[in-house]
Amino acid sequence: MATPAEARVDLGAIRYNVALLKERAGGAELMGAVKADAYGHGLVPAAKAVLEGGASRLGTAFVREALALREAGVTAPVLAWLLTPGEPLERALLADVELSASSVGLLDEIAAAARATGRTAGVHLEADSGMGRGGAPPTAWPGLLARAMELRAEGVIEVVGLWSHFACSDIPRHPAIEQQLETFETALKLAEQAGAAGSHVIRHLANSAAILDVPAARFDLVRPGIAMYGLSPIPELGDFGLRPAMTLVAKVALVKRVPEGSGVSYGHLYVTDHETTLGLIPLGYADGILRHATGRAEVLAGGRRRKIAGRVCMDQFVIDMGDDPLSPGDEVVLFGPGDQGEPTAQEWADTLGTITHEIVTRIGSRVPRVY
Ligand SMILES: *Cc1c(COP(=O)(O)O)cnc(C)c1O
Repeated sequence: MATPAEARVDLGAIRYNVALLKERAGGAELMGAVKADAYGHGLVPAAKAVLEGGASRLGTAFVREALALREAGVTAPVLAWLLTPGEPLERALLADVELSASSVGLLDEIAAAARATGRTAGVHLEADSGMGRGGAPPTAWPGLLARAMELRAEGVIEVVGLWSHFACSDIPRHPAIEQQLETFETALKLAEQAGAAGSHVIRHLANSAAILDVPAARFDLVRPGIAMYGLSPIPELGDFGLRPAMTLVAKVALVKRVPEGSGVSYGHLYVTDHETTLGLIPLGYADGILRHATGRAEVLAGGRRRKIAGRVCMDQFVIDMGDDPLSPGDEVVLFGPGDQGEPTAQEWADTLGTITHEIVTRIGSRVPRVY
């Protein structure tokens, strides 16, 4: 390792997980969610592995992310689903990026970009079936459909997809799951009546949790994210046979012997209770090691788990080795698949009261991804 730390990404694990999800999706097409730098795994290499694993499409939040895929030579269909007024939609259309619209205003912006470029925009219409975030609510859905039909007649847009997103699919048997399925079915019926749901139109609803736990939500296409990276979308139901793709390692920067009663790191929250060996680890909250991990999270060092001793700083934290040996340059593992006894991202998430999505996406840009 030439850098103080690195995130090792097992692309084989991503391919394996995508193939497993494809099997579980029962014939539905897969759109791999590669937003946020592929959940911190590195946009382009991860996206290529996702396609090799059997996904036929990719999804990003922002237009910029979709354009980055195109610039890297990725030619598979890409949908950007979170538009904000004033985005480079002309560039998106020229790069053959599909766009999602949740409002008549955004649809009109897409249409204007289509007229300006002479391209027909591939549009996915988003219904809010109960997520209460993006999407047109039921009251606005008929108006969105009507506008889409006008713009399609003008030849500036094509309706490629009709979609929605779950709020509670990671909470088994939550009543909102059934309610959202019903609301989405109603939205699809209205789209049919409006003439916006031809046989080529792709209906999609399921994220990772729904792929694995809500078979009725598969429709024509599913949108896995976290599960492709090997992390369970419903930890209480187990790991579903997924393989974690990321291992975060760091090299010990400094080792020193200190006497009993030595305060460690900002605020002296940790004080040694005997003479001991401290190891300095060159990763901090600027790299996504949450400050909240202070005194809580564990790493694997010298074959054993060690709790972070004292405050996590911006660039570094300390571990207490006791009388066990440690040398500068030794590797410590923060999290990985767990095969060597290292903590998993799931353990970090549980310890810090968050979800694995946040653990992996927060790993900062100073940490190189190595494949
Ligand atoms: C992030 C995201 C997904 C994937 O969600 P996971 O829970 O990670 O599987 C799917 N669809 C949309 C719209 C998303 O924003």
